[in-house]
Amino acid sequence: MTTNAELYSRRIAAIPKGVVNGLQVFAARAENAEIWDIEGRRYIDFAAGIAVCNTGHRHPKVVAAVEAQLKAFSHTAFQVMPYEGYIALAERLNAIAPIAAPTKTIFFNTGAEAVENAVKIARAATGRTGIIAFSGAFHGRTLMTTALTGKVVPYKKRFGTLPAEIWRVPFPVAQYGVTVEDSLKMLDSILRTDADPDQVAAILIEPVQGEGGFHIAPPELLRAIRKVCDEHGILLIADEVQTGFARTGKMFAMQHSRVEPDLMTMAKALGGGFPISGVVGRAEIMDTVDGGGLGSTYGGAPLSCAAALAVLDVIEAEDLVARAAEIGERLRSRFTQWSQRNDLQPVTNIRGLGAMNAFDLPDAATVKTVIGKAFEGGLIQISCGVFGETLRFLPPLTISDALIDEGLDVLEGALVR
Ligand code: PMP
Repeated sequence: MTTNAELYSRRIAAIPKGVVNGLQVFAARAENAEIWDIEGRRYIDFAAGIAVCNTGHRHPKVVAAVEAQLKAFSHTAFQVMPYEGYIALAERLNAIAPIAAPTKTIFFNTGAEAVENAVKIARAATGRTGIIAFSGAFHGRTLMTTALTGKVVPYKKRFGTLPAEIWRVPFPVAQYGVTVEDSLKMLDSILRTDADPDQVAAILIEPVQGEGGFHIAPPELLRAIRKVCDEHGILLIADEVQTGFARTGKMFAMQHSRVEPDLMTMAKALGGGFPISGVVGRAEIMDTVDGGGLGSTYGGAPLSCAAALAVLDVIEAEDLVARAAEIGERLRSRFTQWSQRNDLQPVTNIRGLGAMNAFDLPDAATVKTVIGKAFEGGLIQISCGVFGETLRFLPPLTISDALIDEGLDVLEGALVR
């Protein structure tokens, strides 16, 4: 039998260190909210492949849909010979996008690709090139999305000159001493001192920052940004790559504020484990790019479209929007108990929207230690935050209460000082 140690040494020899692994054990199989490694050890999954498996690992309906598609065909390239699954998925997303006007949707493969293309569409629609983004934002690792990402180490360091005409507003985070008022003052200042509004194609924002630390964009910030956009003909792009598809207790996180974006990016949970991303937006904006200007060989691949249609069915049939809210309450009530104990590492800044939850520990080193101990106890747990000080919780929305509690018991043990 191959061991984890053997595979790890092969991984070190064969794969560059630029891509890191949270764990040094290797997946053998997974079922809903549990994963088993190649040595047969079982783990509770509080990461869901970074907010991808909202419908759990291998949901039977997703597996059945993909198997059926696989028996028919796996690839033709939508740009060569199109197929119904792509259209059906676009229709479903057009119907549920948090945009009241008529919408259109196009598919890609990764979150970064969706953001790249949202920027291209915004540029074509406005005839402007600039983008305003936020500190602590994460939008991907391609060159443009690296530039849009608001954190230097490890994302930008040593990658040289990045695309220009990107301006950055501090994201309001109470513990960093940044208020909504500060953010809006900076936005106003940028539009006076750095960029004429006529140069700005879009303002790009995550309704809840993901990698940046699970900080929630206050509704008053989103409303004020919408107003600035409307005043100056700037488009509002919501990056819902991590927040989308029931994670926050709404289908899309923008629905909490009822602020409508012009364009919205989505990926991760859409495919339920199969790679697919997309941009949905107001039809007249989406149609400003000339034929051939958008696309991708694998974008909206048949297996991924089949999976995504099943994911949308499962979210609806199992009411995962409501379940996300319940999961969030269960997690946060336990975090609150922990925050009142002095035998545990100090649990602070508890926050969350639906099943997208986090709290801070004193520093990145403590977070690392706790994640390591939780792993020894059989729990997969991940971090985030500009300083790596945050533990984030992204369990599948199909997880049982019993498994949540079992995972939290493991974590509680890991938090003991
Ligand atoms: N945007 C957001 C908000 C994300 O959380 C991520 C991934 N963590 C991305 C974009 C990039 O997605 P991908 O890794 O699929 O390129």
